[in-house]
Amino acid sequence: MTYRAPVADILYSLKHVAGFATAVDEGGFGDLDLDTVEAVIGEAGKFATEALAPLDPVGDREGAHCANGVVTTPTGFRDAYRRWSEAGWAGVTAKPEYGGMGLPHAVAAACNEMWSGASMGFALCPLLGEGAIGALEIYGSDALRATYLGRLVSGEWTGTMNLTEPQAGSDLSAVKTRAERAPDGTYRLTGQKIFITYGEHDMADNIVHLVLARLPDAPPGTRGISLFLAPKFLVEPDGSLGARNDVRCASIEHKLGIHASPTCVMVYGDAGGATAYLVGEENRGLAAMFVMMNAARLGVGLQGVAIGEKAYQKALAYARERRQGRAGAVGGGMSPIVEHPDVRRMLVTMKALVQAARGICHLTAVSIDLATHADSAEARSAAAERAALLTPVAKAFSTDVGDEAASLGLQVHGGMGYIEETGAAQLFRDSRIAAIYEGTNGVQAIDLVQRKLPLAGGATLKREIAAMRSVVAEAAASGAAEFGASAARLGEAVDALEQASAYLGGALGADPASALAGATSYLRLFGLALGGVCLAKAGLAALSQPAERGRIGLARFFAEKLATAAPGLARSIQSGVAPLDGCEAILAESA
Ligand SMILES: Cc1cc2nc3c(=O)[nH]c(=O)nc-3n(C[C@H](O)[C@H](O)[C@H](O)COP(=O)(O)OP(=O)(O)OC[C@H]3O[C@@H](n4cnc5c(N)ncnc54)[C@H](O)[C@@H]3O)c2cc1C
Repeated sequence: MTYRAPVADILYSLKHVAGFATAVDEGGFGDLDLDTVEAVIGEAGKFATEALAPLDPVGDREGAHCANGVVTTPTGFRDAYRRWSEAGWAGVTAKPEYGGMGLPHAVAAACNEMWSGASMGFALCPLLGEGAIGALEIYGSDALRATYLGRLVSGEWTGTMNLTEPQAGSDLSAVKTRAERAPDGTYRLTGQKIFITYGEHDMADNIVHLVLARLPDAPPGTRGISLFLAPKFLVEPDGSLGARNDVRCASIEHKLGIHASPTCVMVYGDAGGATAYLVGEENRGLAAMFVMMNAARLGVGLQGVAIGEKAYQKALAYARERRQGRAGAVGGGMSPIVEHPDVRRMLVTMKALVQAARGICHLTAVSIDLATHADSAEARSAAAERAALLTPVAKAFSTDVGDEAASLGLQVHGGMGYIEETGAAQLFRDSRIAAIYEGTNGVQAIDLVQRKLPLAGGATLKREIAAMRSVVAEAAASGAAEFGASAARLGEAVDALEQASAYLGGALGADPASALAGATSYLRLFGLALGGVCLAKAGLAALSQPAERGRIGLARFFAEKLATAAPGLARSIQSGVAPLDGCEAILAESA
């Protein structure tokens, strides 16, 4: 089976988990109404299901190809991209003055999940374009905005993000690409970038590269990095395309997954330097790039949700058809495997994890929106802090969930899952990168512990925990038998989060190695507690909607079967770095 965009689940999560309906109804987004939001998301779902999803296996089989610096995308991608951009999808959040729809990030989150679910290899190109638009809207000069934004928003041109170099991956302070000032106020770039997604391709007329580079007199480290815009083709004053810039794709990588997406080695300055324009201020490039990276982090989190959802759909369809063993009383023929409790466990685990991760991503997106749209300065700043706190969880928890769901989906298929023709193996391969790029999940966990936990003196985290407790209390007060022991188990998960937070808060100053050793477990614990709360919210809203009551069962499953790992994670975190230090001899052994 191919992917069906989960429009109903997405809308339910936005409305009842992330509070988007309330924000819209209260006029938080001007005269935007929910009917419009539903219509846009419905149309995106249709395009994803009908136009993009059929391309995904083709993209995997054919992959992108590079010959003499020219990159060719798989059959159908060019046409699909043209139709996608003509429909206006490149400008969902972009400002109307540049031709965009000006819609909230919550709507873009819905669309991005569906593009990725349909074809992750395709969706990476638009995701980078969205990031470039966001960075230029905020940091671009008037001239850069006038020249580039309209064409990016229309989708005529695409964007890229050039950070990584062979010696500078997680640690961007090691970036060496050089930027020299030219007499006319432009700059000349020289250097090599690796792993650049859609750095070269045949789907658009021009490619707008956003590149991190260092000026000759820049201070060392991340304080000396500037952000530049370097187009593939220079743009004439009348907006027409001029000469080819001094940037080329040297080769593309052969990868485990996302074969359709070209991952390029980009060479700048073979012929004296690529012409580039400063974005923002000299030596302040990382701040500007962070606009792009934060949007991309949420987008990558949604890739995890998307792949998990697709894996679930595929596994459920297979489990209903495949017959093995007898699930019930003796006699009769073989049962569909969906009737076996262990297979049901796998399927419901996939569904519960995906819905939880979707809820976290939607909460993050709505917080990003409220950071600019809330009606008081205080509410805007609280929302911005909440978005900052949740972004690493949205990225890392959701992409881990994507991997777990893809692996479970493959397992549900048995031996056939390991065979390429079912498509389960492609999802397993495609999903794996999401935990690595856009800041590895380990780096996200460190960000959560070192920078987000202490935000506003710990007040942001305290508010989040208080919000979780009020949902737990509501579930307890509901008296609904279908919730089972959900409130008790979720309460324990939130207690565990609070205890682990207190431990890490203390360790950060006194014993940083212990704080860092527990960071990944802490992010998981955070995701389990908040994810459980998201599902409980969905279940509470379902109490008054008979058709949605299945959501209460899902909330209970998550609370009683998955969130129960939380107290164990807290204990593991509180054991600090000592158990690792005890293994020094193991790591010192020669191979
Ligand atoms: C398919 C693909 C597409 C990509 N697209 C882009 C793109 O469009 N633009 C772009 O600029 N880059 C892109 N990247 C690069 C990607 O962002 C990097 O691979 C990623 O940031 C990790 O850097 P690295 O590979 O150098 O790993 P390293 O930084 O060498 O990390 C290796 C391991 O060490 C860990 N580690 C590193 N530092 C620390 C630390 N301080 N504390 C704890 N653990 C640490 C990491 O978590 C990881 O597990 C892409 C990569 C791939 C594979």
